[in-house]
Amino acid sequence: MRIDFGARPRLLVEMLTPCPVYIGGEWRVVSDLPTSPVFNPSRGEIIAEVPMGDAALVHEAVEAAAAAFPSWMETPPTERARILFRFKMLLEDHFDELATLVTREHGKTAIEARGDVRRGVEMVEFACGVPSLLMGDILENVARGIDCDAIRQPLGVCVGITPFNFPAMVPLWMIPVALACGNTYVLKPSEKVPLTAIRLGQLLEESGLPPGVFNLVHGGRDVVDALLTHPKVRAISFVGSTPVARHIYLTGTQNGKRVQANGGAKNYVLIMPDADLEPSVKGLTEAAFGCAGERCMSGSTAVVIGDAAKNFLPSLIDATKAIEVGPTDGWNGASQPQMGPVITREHKERVESLIEAGIRQGARVAADGRGVRHPDAPNGFFVGATILDHVESSMTVAREEIFGPVLNVMRMDDLDAAIELTNRSVFGNGASIFTRSGKAAREFKHRVKAGMVGINIGVPASMAWFPFNGWDDSFFGDLHMQGKEGVQFFTRLKVTTSRWFSYGEGSIWAEK
Ligand code: NAD
Repeated sequence: MRIDFGARPRLLVEMLTPCPVYIGGEWRVVSDLPTSPVFNPSRGEIIAEVPMGDAALVHEAVEAAAAAFPSWMETPPTERARILFRFKMLLEDHFDELATLVTREHGKTAIEARGDVRRGVEMVEFACGVPSLLMGDILENVARGIDCDAIRQPLGVCVGITPFNFPAMVPLWMIPVALACGNTYVLKPSEKVPLTAIRLGQLLEESGLPPGVFNLVHGGRDVVDALLTHPKVRAISFVGSTPVARHIYLTGTQNGKRVQANGGAKNYVLIMPDADLEPSVKGLTEAAFGCAGERCMSGSTAVVIGDAAKNFLPSLIDATKAIEVGPTDGWNGASQPQMGPVITREHKERVESLIEAGIRQGARVAADGRGVRHPDAPNGFFVGATILDHVESSMTVAREEIFGPVLNVMRMDDLDAAIELTNRSVFGNGASIFTRSGKAAREFKHRVKAGMVGINIGVPASMAWFPFNGWDDSFFGDLHMQGKEGVQFFTRLKVTTSRWFSYGEGSIWAEK
């Protein structure tokens, strides 16, 4: 049976169901495994079935990656970079198609889906600089006639386990840098969004990547646990919720693997009374409700300081109520709403029940997105943009990551109290301030306990050249994804100390 990806003429993807795996350079449908449905969340319709792999499938993929490693490691970095250049060009050629696929299986709007793909392409661009990124250090004469150098070598088989919310960007945080550094790879994408990952795999293959260098398996916990314990896996990159990130980190490191595991978040956005009204309302609504709040960098808590409650909140509430929610897959001419659905029916129910818990515990609903239905898509998984005002730290909505279009509003008297509140969070991904005061901004930047800070920026997600820099319960490990830390994660140093007993050791200048 073929999956119908819709009427958009430029959409070139057609895939067999159940979704294929890619192992040792071959695409294969594994038909003897149980499957899980993949939805178009805008319609609530099943668009594919994904096989839920097992330890045997993992073993096959890891062995294929291990077999491909010696030759890929010996491939000069310049040649590896050339393949990545081709991959980058293919991503550009298929940009619209990939963005459409992201919309199809995730529900992001067209603009958001294009952002997802664009951030991923930037990672490939970064990785194309691998010959410079891999350059080592050397110090002549660490002692007389003795030189010391440090070079970077790849680790071996590396693994990526990714979440549903950025189907293109997050796998591309990992794969290009890992491959550029000379590692081979096994990706396990979220079982909720396997289609974009499959398309990325097809384009990698088309770029000229030798068989076995990149492999793709599907599944859930069984596959992850088999990857975490497989003796030939050297490193694991994970992005997902905090409890799973912690499990991945503990189990992976106990099994001798290098691990970087990004977890969940609750990000605070401080609004000072002097904040520029219009851009800060726009910045906050985009931060809170962009991607239907399904972002680890969502500005999910607004901390309004002093008089900002009077000046800022009414405009924020008006802007929130004006946000339209609806199906985002209208590529055959229908206009795009500002906000799409959440990922599954279960997630919609969870978000709505958290809103109800907030109300029960004393929060006031200033904008209510529960029970939204769209006439053209009655089965879509929609939650409207919601504001819970007068949220207190003890409430469930203040403690748990909601991961939906729900903005908590907390009120504080001054900047000190707001920073203290922000710093009580167990998470440490992002934190932002909107203000016209350089002094307040500097104070916030210096004292806030978060790894990515925004000043008049609602979503201070760092880009490819800088580490994606979560702290505390938002990150488990030592080296983050992206930037130079990413290169360090995917390589290990070899330090060589050499002495050649040469004539005139240490005295060549004296000979003249
Ligand atoms: P998730 O933790 O449910 O799943 C992530 C991956 O782990 C998936 O591939 C899934 O199959 C696998 N998985 C799920 N449960 C597992 C288990 N018990 N054992 C082993 N593997 C398991 O996350 P999600 O719902 O797909 O994504 C949303 C979460 O990801 C949010 O918490 C969000 O904040 C976080 N996230 C974090 C970042 C970051 O950089 N910090 C970026 C994006 C998303």
